Amino acid sequence: MRAKLVVGNWKMNGDLASNARRLDALAAGWKAKPGRELAVCVPFPYLAQARERLQGSAVAWGAQDVSEHAAGAHTGEVAAAMVAEFGSRYAIVGHSERRQAHRESDALVAAKARAALAAGLVPVVCVGETLAERDAGRIEEVVGAQVDAAIAGLGEAVARCVVAYEPVWAIGTGRTATPEQAQEVHALLRARLKRAGAGDVALLYGGSVKAANAAALFGMADVDGGLVGGASLDADEFMAIGAA
Ligand code: PEP
Repeated sequence: MRAKLVVGNWKMNGDLASNARRLDALAAGWKAKPGRELAVCVPFPYLAQARERLQGSAVAWGAQDVSEHAAGAHTGEVAAAMVAEFGSRYAIVGHSERRQAHRESDALVAAKARAALAAGLVPVVCVGETLAERDAGRIEEVVGAQVDAAIAGLGEAVARCVVAYEPVWAIGTGRTATPEQAQEVHALLRARLKRAGAGDVALLYGGSVKAANAAALFGMADVDGGLVGGASLDADEFMAIGAA
């Protein structure tokens, strides 16, 4: 049976004082459970704080993006190796906010995932359709192309990634995909990954996950946990999602 993984995406939220409270609550409150993992992806400047507060606990941490480059003249970019130096396990790549606001292409997202893997990180590769694409019946075309680009860019190494299905219309909107809608897309992602020899990749659902809807979503056959934005900022709510 595949393990359950819940990853928090703090986005651009937090400060030293409130992070300390949240990280300490997670470190003290989350107990290691077989087949369950909890992680938080924090803004880059707080990776050192995440390491300081979480090391020795059962909670992993990581970043929300990495550069596709290893080093050099890339002002403002952060290399995956730098993220890894802070004890990180995960790096989100291709979040829809970056695909939209920073025009990140499928090929760039694959290159970022490759850079993360090369640094020993586990990339959490995000895919998902917009509402217009869903309404036009283009879910499989869009999400399929996104995951196929990761498969093409990574080859066999795609088996070492986590893939997060995040319908864009459900992110930060309070509008969640039904468990059946999530399962339908996860099943098609699983089929494509299986054909590439990566059928056991953890497939997370993201989009307004809360403690109240997590168990129903995570109970679906191909949903292996969640990528959680807003609700990850409340330690108790986040741990309740992790336990769902
Ligand atoms: C996200 O940012 O990845 C996300 C899923 O956000 P939210 O849970 O707030 O919808």
